[in-house]
Amino acid sequence: MRIVRRRWLLLVLVVALAVISLLLPPRARTLDEAGAIGAPVRGTIHVHTRRSDGSGTIDDVASAAARAGLRFVVFSDHGDATRTPQPPAYRHGVLCIDAIEIATFAGHVLAIGLDGAAPYPLGGEPRDVIDDVARLGGMAVAAHPTSSKPALRWQDWSSRFDGLEWLNADSEWRDERPLTLLGALLTYPFRRAETLTSLLDRPGDVLARWDQLLRTRHVVGLAGADAHASLVNGEDNPYSDRSPIALPAYEQSFRTFSVSLPNALLSGDAAADARSVVRELRGGRLYTSIDGLAHPARFSIIARSGAHQAGAGDQLPLSGPVTIDVRTNAPAGARIVLIRNGQVVTTEDAPTLTFTGEQASGYYRAEVYLRAATAERSIPWIVSNPIYVGDPPHEGPPFRPAAESIRYRGAMPDTARRRDDGVPDSDEWQGWGIELHEKSKGVLDVVPGNGQTRLLLQYVLGGTKGDSPYVALGMPAGPDVQAFDHLAFKGRADRPMRIWVQFWRPVPTGNEYWRRSVYLDPVERDIVIPFAEMLPSAPGTARAAPLSTIVSIMFVVDSVHTPLGAKGQLWIGDIRYQR
Ligand SMILES: [Zn+2]
Ligand SMILES: [Zn+2]
Repeated sequence: MRIVRRRWLLLVLVVALAVISLLLPPRARTLDEAGAIGAPVRGTIHVHTRRSDGSGTIDDVASAAARAGLRFVVFSDHGDATRTPQPPAYRHGVLCIDAIEIATFAGHVLAIGLDGAAPYPLGGEPRDVIDDVARLGGMAVAAHPTSSKPALRWQDWSSRFDGLEWLNADSEWRDERPLTLLGALLTYPFRRAETLTSLLDRPGDVLARWDQLLRTRHVVGLAGADAHASLVNGEDNPYSDRSPIALPAYEQSFRTFSVSLPNALLSGDAAADARSVVRELRGGRLYTSIDGLAHPARFSIIARSGAHQAGAGDQLPLSGPVTIDVRTNAPAGARIVLIRNGQVVTTEDAPTLTFTGEQASGYYRAEVYLRAATAERSIPWIVSNPIYVGDPPHEGPPFRPAAESIRYRGAMPDTARRRDDGVPDSDEWQGWGIELHEKSKGVLDVVPGNGQTRLLLQYVLGGTKGDSPYVALGMPAGPDVQAFDHLAFKGRADRPMRIWVQFWRPVPTGNEYWRRSVYLDPVERDIVIPFAEMLPSAPGTARAAPLSTIVSIMFVVDSVHTPLGAKGQLWIGDIRYQR
């Protein structure tokens, strides 16, 4: 009996091994270094640690990166950027650069190279987060635009992010069918990076989006590891406990693909080197390689016109025809695809490509495929960044000053006086006042300022996150609003902050509103809000504010951009409608 059972076990084992050997992805190819093309500085971006929902410490990650042959890691734990980033440091010979992943109303964005902690929580509308990241000296990278979860997926294609994850490993393997993932679990112990590589598909939609954007402006394309070393990541609740299953391991994620900086020079001085790496990332002087297919990847793309030449990320002035040279250490059977303005201009089934074209503006980028037979359907081995040739991309219509402007004609109090919260409406205020959450406080004063009066709002934002507390200064919209399309006012605050400007209308269930967030700091400045930029607060509401039904305009301090418990003051005045 016992012998029969052993035979069965043996048979099951043999069948299992046969299935695994059939499923095994091809081994990554080892390539010659192609002496003439210099070795780049290779690293990875978008890595989570135990500070949010990753399973390892910073040290674990650095050590895994060192084993995978990487020289830098850009960490991006979830947060609102109010934590001071850790200073750059070398660990296990790997340059560790601290960045952050911020949740906006329309997806996640990486903020890389911030000067320090943000003065207020970054969040809310994606365009505002990107604006804040730029003000703080950072680079904004739209994260995982293909995520299967709408709340995480980047969805705002009109905002001016600096970079785009054309590939995100976490989204890639989470969108696979359960049977594929089961197969991957079987083969992972035998060929780990190759198994992770086998789950990568060519993200055609994102590459097409990128091509579309490149016609209008510079956008850096790169691959984000989004490494958590955790099967169950906490993207839904980024601060939850890590999962006990530390798969896929950091080292294997780092062996799957990497970002190469051909021009970076590392000196050993962590601060200087981090500046150099961030500068190269921001400049788009980089390429992505899928090392789980073949490694080490060597690649260069150079454009020439007349006496000028430029590499990826750079702008090439036009003087005569354009020649593009692409060189790689690709093995036999590979294909180079050269793309100009989103269209394939030429392909070459060889490790190098030279193309000469007419004198015309546009951008060129290259994709390299290891197998010509499946090129442009499978995951590319290398994706370059574009070279921008000729005139810079067209940035859209220039700013047009308002043709007509009227002073807001509501009964704005024009002599110094005070209105405490709770004082009943009186005629002289005619609809002006404070609205607030019961745990918060607000006081409104009318004070002199720059020849006109200013409204001074003093606030204390009390309450918990769950209370969503707010303090708002409200005024009647008045009938003029319907005849105009911009709201203008002068504003400042005692510290850098963001407030919402909202158009409210009453509905049977309370209020509906349209909003735009604006930045204030101690320097008074003119702020102009096109009504068209005000977005509905609730999904399913009309995109444009129905002006005929708007009764009040609110200036709102709330917990999206203001820390709980914060107190401060802001000044608003010279309110105008414009068109
Ligand atoms: Zn994310
Ligand atoms: Zn992430």
